[in-house]
Amino acid sequence: MPLPPPRPLKRLGQHFLVDPNIVRKILALAELQSEETVLEIGPGRGILTRALAAAARAVVAIEVDPKLHAYLAETFADRANVDLRLGDALAFDYLNLPPRTVVVANLPYYVSTPLLMKLLDARARFDRMVLMLQTEVARRLVAGPGTGEYGSLSVVTQHAAEVSMAFQVSPGCFRPRPEVGSAVVSLVIRRESPVGVADEAAFARIVRASFAHRRKTIANSLRDEGLPPDRIAAALTRAGIAPSRRAETLGLHEFAALTAALES
Ligand code: SAM
Repeated sequence: MPLPPPRPLKRLGQHFLVDPNIVRKILALAELQSEETVLEIGPGRGILTRALAAAARAVVAIEVDPKLHAYLAETFADRANVDLRLGDALAFDYLNLPPRTVVVANLPYYVSTPLLMKLLDARARFDRMVLMLQTEVARRLVAGPGTGEYGSLSVVTQHAAEVSMAFQVSPGCFRPRPEVGSAVVSLVIRRESPVGVADEAAFARIVRASFAHRRKTIANSLRDEGLPPDRIAAALTRAGIAPSRRAETLGLHEFAALTAALES
């Protein structure tokens, strides 16, 4: 007798996709080639995993829930190209994956932002990503300067990848239904900085410090994050940024210029 699927656990963000049409749309967007390896985070009951395994050379799927992992091990016992891993995707060593791995995942929403940051940190291993996220996070990823959704997440992500919103997914496409809307985004990893950033860790630090106090000017926000005022003033002048501006008005080029000026 095959194992029945375990009951969904809310605390692990278990909202399983049940609409085959959405699976088809995700697969079409991923444009998988038969020699590619796919990384899936949170395979759940395996609806995406099955489709990914049919399209790609191999699927590495990381599931944190031991009961789901056991269910999947039985379900995919006949699929030699599905490599199931039991563990926390936040603690996974992505640098052991083959180069140009493609990430395709319906992410657990309670932890989607730290997971995305972790994936971007390991992006040397990835070619592109197709991710389902809560709509609010997806909007922040694609937001441009001057909008309320634009923040450090937008800047850091757009610096690392070409990001686009693909399509929306309604709560009715999942069981149990989530309380928030969902959206699928595509990220094509950039091989180099589009704005000549040399020290990426410094860039991310300065972007975060700039947005740490959203209502304040860039000069005051950086000061409140502990940078000396005279160093801030000199760097803003060198980068051609008026100290009265707010972080949400600055584009990628300006953050790159500010990083270079503060670090020199
Ligand atoms: N891919 C399936 C689908 O589309 O139906 C399930 C998606 S469900 C939104 C998220 C999945 O991520 C669940 O199976 C959950 O157990 C798993 N998960 C939650 N936290 C995780 C973590 N830290 N590491 C790995 N998987 C996790």
